[in-house]
Amino acid sequence: MLRENLKSQLVRARSREVNDISHRIRDVGFKCMKYGWCCCPDPEFEIEILDIHRPSNAISVLPRDIRAIQDATGCNLLDVVEPDIYSCIRGEKMLSTGWILKRKHDGTCMFFDDDRNLCTIYEHRPLICRVFPFFLDGSGMLEVRHCCGTHQQMEGMDALESGQRLVRYLTSTIEHYIAICEGLGDELDMDKLCQARLEDGLMLRVFDGETESIGEYSDGAGFQMVQD
Ligand code: SF4
Ligand code: SF4
Repeated sequence: MLRENLKSQLVRARSREVNDISHRIRDVGFKCMKYGWCCCPDPEFEIEILDIHRPSNAISVLPRDIRAIQDATGCNLLDVVEPDIYSCIRGEKMLSTGWILKRKHDGTCMFFDDDRNLCTIYEHRPLICRVFPFFLDGSGMLEVRHCCGTHQQMEGMDALESGQRLVRYLTSTIEHYIAICEGLGDELDMDKLCQARLEDGLMLRVFDGETESIGEYSDGAGFQMVQD
């Protein structure tokens, strides 16, 4: 059922009118002020989904985003991402349905340079960071998230590129969710959706729609792979 819904959403997403979305983006207006608010956790803006409190900067990334960062930086997988502990399925072994960008101890994105207030992988940053603060909801309505750069004058070409990226982001994420549904089958029971409690010795399986990894969490070393 979930898979069929996603497939219908994908058909609709592919037919979204980019010009229309771009006009709406231009009407709002945006220019990044580069203060890095979206790269750092803000407790005032935690997102609550089904009783799960997701930090404002728990940034889900697609496998292709991860590959692009790894190719550009030479980093290992676990230097780039950590399991998305906010989207897990409870079972015999906790199952995470993907990755989020790795964060430092203070919760800030691993790739944010606090001293210079900039993204150190700007040219290779994930698609979600490129579309922020704009998103499209299931019915194609433009959502504008909290951001200090909105309501700034915007060139038509920038709005058009932003609209194109937004449609690409929407179709890519739906394709990604379909791959997760197809890979997990009945195991993807949304009634069992939960947040993993990080505790020493927690075994976590991660399936990102393409590959599966098994790792263990420890207080001292974070998440370490035991099998992939
Ligand atoms: S919150 Fe908005 S303006 Fe601030 S760094 Fe992020 S995208 Fe740029
Ligand atoms: S990848 Fe760059 S833009 Fe995205 S959250 Fe991290 S520092 Fe910010």
